[in-house]
Amino acid sequence: MGQVMAKALIVGGGIAGDMLALLLERDGWLVTVAEIAPALRTGGQTVDLRGDSREVLDNAGLLGKALECLVPQRGAAWIDAKGRPLAKMPVEAFDGKGLVSKEELLRTDLARIIHEAAGPGVTHRFGETVEALEDQESGVLARFRSGDEEVFDLIVGADGAHSRVRALRFGPEERFRKPLGLAHAWFTLDEKPGTPSLDGWFLMHNAPGRRAVAARPGHAGQQEIGMTFGADTLPPRGDRDARFALLERTFVDVGWRTREFLDAAAVASDFSLDTLDQVTMPAWHDGRVVLVGDSAWCASPLSGLGTALALRGAEELASALRETGNRLPAALAAFESAMRPRVASAQQLPPGRVAAAAPKTKWGIRVNAWVMRAVQSNLLRPLMKRAFAATEHGRESASAM
Ligand SMILES: Cc1cc2nc3c(=O)[nH]c(=O)nc-3n(C[C@H](O)[C@H](O)[C@H](O)COP(=O)(O)OP(=O)(O)OC[C@H]3O[C@@H](n4cnc5c(N)ncnc54)[C@H](O)[C@@H]3O)c2cc1C
Repeated sequence: MGQVMAKALIVGGGIAGDMLALLLERDGWLVTVAEIAPALRTGGQTVDLRGDSREVLDNAGLLGKALECLVPQRGAAWIDAKGRPLAKMPVEAFDGKGLVSKEELLRTDLARIIHEAAGPGVTHRFGETVEALEDQESGVLARFRSGDEEVFDLIVGADGAHSRVRALRFGPEERFRKPLGLAHAWFTLDEKPGTPSLDGWFLMHNAPGRRAVAARPGHAGQQEIGMTFGADTLPPRGDRDARFALLERTFVDVGWRTREFLDAAAVASDFSLDTLDQVTMPAWHDGRVVLVGDSAWCASPLSGLGTALALRGAEELASALRETGNRLPAALAAFESAMRPRVASAQQLPPGRVAAAAPKTKWGIRVNAWVMRAVQSNLLRPLMKRAFAATEHGRESASAM
């Protein structure tokens, strides 16, 4: 190795993959992005533009565009089964450094902004993925699902928490997956006449038995829905009926707008359901293959830092390659050293974080609401301000589940 490289294959055209494609292209690489979905994947809740996300987008010249897409938000509120508020945290709390910020945009818009910034040196192959990776003298031969084959100087797995590149090169998912004991469904609800307005508020309702439902503002005429519940495993991804049956069984007796959400889930085009896991690996690179984003280090939506880490990881990988003159493995080792401390800190969820996302008992739900009120009291506010500032690498608001 050590020669100047020219061709990179990035598997996964999500946040990390498309950001890396853009940055490598600017450094003179020819980049192929193989994305398994038939088109750019939209969907997802909001991404907070504080900390790392803001800085990386700014460095890439994309912050202005991101700021044009902000979702108007007034704050987060915890409500009871009848929709009455138990606690509220407005966006102004903690000098704007609280749970929900004024500067958040939908993941859909962020993905589109990054995707559209790519130049002619980036080729997207949608509906495509890799079936095999084979080391050769001159690079790595990628065998694609379509039957095509091509040799690349660098292969990047940016294909999310269930990464195929990771499975092909580093081993089966079970070896690296640490389930947090919760599952989460998210999807977009199209408002109809009579749909209750959120009025800019992110509303959350907890029910005993580790169940939580939430609605937050989305694009005009839409609401972004989240449903969280206790589970380590789920029916297979292809078994749509079993997955919806599980959701129905789990949430059937939950109050507030839950019936409406269950009906909307069944028809949502962007419906997603997954367990909340962390991914921990002893190494993120092997030869000419490297992982970035959730495939390498998923910190889980509960960290609120998945997108910030994906953006920062793409930037660190591109700059390590640039600074070493594309020398492997020095570049990949430098990338790992830069990212390890950030990832370790993001994966360290605060004590009680998982339990607070979906409390088990009525008592736990009451305590949760009390804590949310108490932290905003004159006594505790200065302490919390410091805590929020210390963790401010840039969150995404799924963190507030
Ligand atoms: C549609 C969507 C909605 C999301 N919504 C939320 C949310 O609301 N809250 C939250 O906390 N996190 C959400 N996430 C996860 C969040 O985007 C990531 O945690 C974070 O941005 C890290 O980015 P990533 O690029 O590593 O992974 P991702 O953004 O997940 O991107 C991975 C990409 O790889 C593609 N891919 C997967 N497998 C293959 C394969 N075998 N071959 C080729 N391509 C493949 C996927 O289609 C996807 O485009 C969502 C992810 C997606 C894809």
